[in-house]
Amino acid sequence: MVVKKICCVGAGYVGGPTCSVIALKCPEIHVTVVDLSKSRIDQWNSDKLPIYEPGLDEIVKQCRGRNLFFSTDIETAILEADLIFISVNTPTKTIGNGKGRAPDLKYVEGAARMIAEIAQSDKIVVEKSTVPVRAAESILKILSANQKPGVSYQILSNPEFLAEGTAINDLINADRVLIGGEESPKGKAAIEELCGIYEHWIPREKIFTTNTWSSELSKLAANAMLAQRISSINSLSAVCEATGADVSEVATAVGLDSRIGSKFLQASIGGSCFQKDILNLVYICECLNLPEVAAYWQQVVDMNEYQKSRFTAKVIQSLFNTVSGKTVTILGFAFKKNTGDTRETPAIHVAKTLLDEGATLKIYDPKVEEDQIYYDLTHPAVCESPETVKKAISVYHDAYSACENSHAIVLCTEWDEFKTLDYHKIYHVMMKPAYVFDGRKILDHQTLIDIGFHVQTIGKTLQRPLLTRFCGGNTCMH
Ligand code: ADP
Repeated sequence: MVVKKICCVGAGYVGGPTCSVIALKCPEIHVTVVDLSKSRIDQWNSDKLPIYEPGLDEIVKQCRGRNLFFSTDIETAILEADLIFISVNTPTKTIGNGKGRAPDLKYVEGAARMIAEIAQSDKIVVEKSTVPVRAAESILKILSANQKPGVSYQILSNPEFLAEGTAINDLINADRVLIGGEESPKGKAAIEELCGIYEHWIPREKIFTTNTWSSELSKLAANAMLAQRISSINSLSAVCEATGADVSEVATAVGLDSRIGSKFLQASIGGSCFQKDILNLVYICECLNLPEVAAYWQQVVDMNEYQKSRFTAKVIQSLFNTVSGKTVTILGFAFKKNTGDTRETPAIHVAKTLLDEGATLKIYDPKVEEDQIYYDLTHPAVCESPETVKKAISVYHDAYSACENSHAIVLCTEWDEFKTLDYHKIYHVMMKPAYVFDGRKILDHQTLIDIGFHVQTIGKTLQRPLLTRFCGGNTCMH
């Protein structure tokens, strides 16, 4: 079989960008991305794509209607495809066994059942969603139990390593592509088919093939290792604040060791999209009766939570231990820059705590839609009284109006535009004393202090000049 048609089930953060790049790099392959959600597909077919990723718009514009299609006609796409990607969502279970930790595989299962019902010819089914180890086996069980005569399936695991905000670059210049499959001749042939697609732009030596379970576990392991580095440096940021060390200096010094390297050593407010995967790993370890391993990885998640709470507590404490009746500006709501995604964003934690303490919030993010912010902050998991929350928050379309009459700025996302704002102008429209809490360590703190701001950040204690301290600066308040 030579793959001529691909169907991708799930038009989300993974399926959309991945298939756009495949369509770009493989002009002879017909790629159809399908989704149950009509509104999502309509957005993919419009000028305003449902997700923001640098470079994505251009690729979609170039390929859409040529060999890239977005459709709700799932049946036709599955019937015609030689290879099907499953890239549906795998949220953390909210009820039942493994609640709060185990991934909910109902969408993966739903997609597998749909394929079994529709398919009339052999298919290579590729699991792309991040799934627990041995999920491929469950997909195979569903497919074989509902198999039609003469139809056979090969299941491959091909985890996605793209990072939101740099997804297109990560796909085009991937460090590696991982493909796991059955060790039988048919399994190997299916792996070769998928290799052939990636080889359109990825050198063969960067395509690593393994058995299915190694591939599934590698995805979780890679994210767990990255999260562990962030939690490690964040834990040290607390030590820096208590000792006068500067976490950026410590990170640079440590990262210069070639055995360690400099990447993923940036301390910050915490919060990342890895949480789901690590919790998934913890749950697997518990199920495998490996409690010590589970506890080890759980601590990586706990440190991430601690960092968010520690930062928010610092905000409240600095504002004289009360934010009730005060206005706080949240700059940045996405979980990181260059994405509109708010899943696991630390901004939700910060906003929720400040709202619980009675603050009024003015929020601005360059890419997150207003509706999404309201949705996140009034979600039942976060708030008991949506009406009260709605009254206490307002969303702005520029940073300057979001800062007017505000007592403090809390910077939650490292958007580049926040580095170049006119902070003189902002200082003059804010209430005094005016505070800046830089949760991402991106601002020029000395300049802000010189303007008159009280500034706090992560992993470093900033000193105001002596004179100001005697004049009632925050640093000398006892
Ligand atoms: P991810 O970040 O993993 O890509 P998203 O939530 O962004 O996850 O996207 C997953 C998409 O999969 C959603 O748009 C959802 O509607 C879609 N989806 C879930 N189940 C199915 C299904 N059985 N058939 C088609 N689409 C599905």
